[in-house]
Amino acid sequence: MKSAKLIEPFRIDKPQRFRLADHDPADTRGLDIDKQEAKSMLAQDIERLAKLQEMLYAHHRWAVLAIFQAMDAGGKDSAIEHVMTGVNPQGCEVHAFKAPSAEELDHDFLWRAATRLPRRGHIGIFNRSHYEEVLVVRVRHELLVREELPPELTRNRIWKQRFEDIVAFERHLARNGTIIVKFHLRISKEEQKRRFLQRLEDPAKRWKFSMDDVADRKLWDRYMDAYEDMIRHTSTPEAPWYVVPADNKWFARLVVAAALVDALDRLDLRFPKVSRAQLEEMQRIRKALEAGRD
Ligand code: ATP
Ligand code: MG
Repeated sequence: MKSAKLIEPFRIDKPQRFRLADHDPADTRGLDIDKQEAKSMLAQDIERLAKLQEMLYAHHRWAVLAIFQAMDAGGKDSAIEHVMTGVNPQGCEVHAFKAPSAEELDHDFLWRAATRLPRRGHIGIFNRSHYEEVLVVRVRHELLVREELPPELTRNRIWKQRFEDIVAFERHLARNGTIIVKFHLRISKEEQKRRFLQRLEDPAKRWKFSMDDVADRKLWDRYMDAYEDMIRHTSTPEAPWYVVPADNKWFARLVVAAALVDALDRLDLRFPKVSRAQLEEMQRIRKALEAGRD
């Protein structure tokens, strides 16, 4: 299967009609029958991504921002780790957004994201992002209270306004040369339970478990509503959401890698041209080096 074909069903092109329930977290597009094909697709995409990143860096016109959002144990960390294995760390930055600091809370909700954006030629990865501001902050009212906004600005319409502001922010970035790709790794509630139990049993994973995760699990349905509303309002042609079936980690990685390759492939990346004069100068230097005249 071609990578572009693989990702098609997961890119949300018609967000108005988007329903989370239409997206099966266990979907593998029949590829589980042929694990070998899946493996070689991933290996090829990882290699391709590394090459494309080198070009992105040298070309120095575009930046790429990949955003990851998921419920706890959704596999964000491991997807990022696997997909970016071949990429040169000098051209890539990952930032994990945690609960905001006092300084961050004193600023507008997009401020901290704006300070972590990838520079031209780089790939930036947001492990969680400004989207937490319409997810956890929407589901857990006390977090909005902590933001100490003027009360008249926190009425019900705040979520719609945040969606509008996010769309405007991302459009602004797109117009300035940042390619944005957003991934919601979608796991089922059953799969989350399985992974939580695994975390609790395995001493190497136990540290990852937090009591907050259990509290969030209790609010599962409200999170799903928040995700659905978020995707409906913020999936745009310049910054599309991919709803990635993530019950099978190998499949989630495959889709993420393919979507990143696709995004970079659409750019007409090339190594900067060397002028005739520079080329002649280089020839001269080469001859001098070879002749030991340096
Ligand atoms: P892991 O998969 O290892 O658990 P994680 O991304 O869940 O990684 P944690 O340190 O466990 O990392 O959790 C970060 C927490 O910070 C999450 O509960 C998230 O909802 C919260 N958070 C992130 N951004 C915001 C925000 N803007 N406002 C409030 N809480 C936030
Ligand atoms: Mg966590």
